[in-house]
Amino acid sequence: QNYYRAPERIEDDVLEVIRQGEVPVDDVAVFVQREDAEKPNVLMMTSCDVRLTTGEKIGMGYLGKDVSALYKGIKKATYFYGGLSFVALLAAIMLGHVVSGRVVDNMQKAYYKQRQFAADASHELRTPLSVIMASADLLGNDPSIESPFLKQVIEDLKDEVKKMSNLVGSLLQIARSDNNAEPMHVHEFDLTVAMEQLVRKMQPLAEKKRITLDINTDGQVMYSGDEQKIQQLMLILVDNAIKYTPEDGRVVLSYDGKKGSSVYFSVQDNGIGIAKEDLVKLFDRFFRVDKARSRSMGGNGLGLAIAKTIVEAHHGRIDVESELGKGTTFKVMVKNM
Ligand code: ADP
Repeated sequence: QNYYRAPERIEDDVLEVIRQGEVPVDDVAVFVQREDAEKPNVLMMTSCDVRLTTGEKIGMGYLGKDVSALYKGIKKATYFYGGLSFVALLAAIMLGHVVSGRVVDNMQKAYYKQRQFAADASHELRTPLSVIMASADLLGNDPSIESPFLKQVIEDLKDEVKKMSNLVGSLLQIARSDNNAEPMHVHEFDLTVAMEQLVRKMQPLAEKKRITLDINTDGQVMYSGDEQKIQQLMLILVDNAIKYTPEDGRVVLSYDGKKGSSVYFSVQDNGIGIAKEDLVKLFDRFFRVDKARSRSMGGNGLGLAIAKTIVEAHHGRIDVESELGKGTTFKVMVKNM
C-alpha cells in the first residue's frame, strides 16, 4: 500500500482506522481515536476504488482529514445548548408553577366566596320565611276570614312556605358542612335505642301507605358519634324508602354489625328501585330520578346529599344497591368518633 504520509500527529490513527477496515466506500465517516486521551484525534475518512480506465480495480484510495477542532467545537456547542435548554425548561416550569398557583389560589378564593354566599343567603332567608309562616298562621286563625277560597289560599301559602323553609334549612346544612362550620356534638349512645325511636316516629307515615316498617337489631349497640345527625341520616333513608315504595310494601332498618371502630347499618325496601345509570348521580345535590314525583312528595333532591355529608363527617361511607322494580338497599358504615 502506497500513501502520502499524513501529518505525523494523526498518522498512526489514520493507519489504524484503515487497518480495521471500517472506512466506508464512497461515503464519509467520523472516527474518534484514542477516546480516553485528553486530546483525541477525530478523523473524517472516506475511501474509493482505484481503477484503470479499462475498469480493472488496482487498489483502494483513502482520504482522511483531521476534524478534531471542529468536533470539539460542536461538542462544546452541544453542551452549551443542552445546558441552555435545561435552564429554559426549569424557568418555564417555575413560571408555570407560579402562574398556575395564582390561578388555583384565585379559584379557591372564588369557590370559598361562593360557598360562603350560599351559607349566608340561606341563613338570611330563614328569618323572613319564619315571619311569613307566622303571618300565614295568624291569617289562617283569623275568624274574620270566612271565604273558603281565601282559606285555601292561606293553606297553600303555608304549604309552600313550609317546603321553602325545608329547602333553605337543607341548603344551610350543606353549605355549613362545606365550610366545615357544621358543629359536631359527639357522645356515646345506644344505636338500637336510636333506631327504635326513629321507627316509632316514622311508623304513622308507613301506616298511611300500609307499609310494614321493621327493625332488625342486636340488643344494646354502643356507638360514639353525633346522635342527632345519625338520627337524621336514618330518617332520610327510611323516609326515602317509604316515599319510593308502593303501598303494602316493606321497609327494614337493620344493624349489620361492627368491625374495629366501624359500625354498619342499612335500610332496605322492596320499592320502585333505581336504574343503574342513575345510581352514580344519586348523591349529587338536587338530583332526583323523577323530579315531578319527588316534588309532589315534598322532596328537593338534597336528602341524600345531606346523608352523604353526615356519613363523611363520621369518616364513613354510604353505598347503594338497587334493581328497578325490585327495591333498594342503602348500606352505611360510620366510624366511632
Ligand atoms: P328527594 O328529596 O327527591 O327524595 P333525595 O336526595 O333524598 O331527594 O333522593 C334523590 C333521589 O333518589 C330521589 O328523588 C329518588 O328518585 C331517588 N331515591 C332515593 N331513595 C330511593 C329509594 N329508596 N328508592 C328509590 N329511589 C330512591
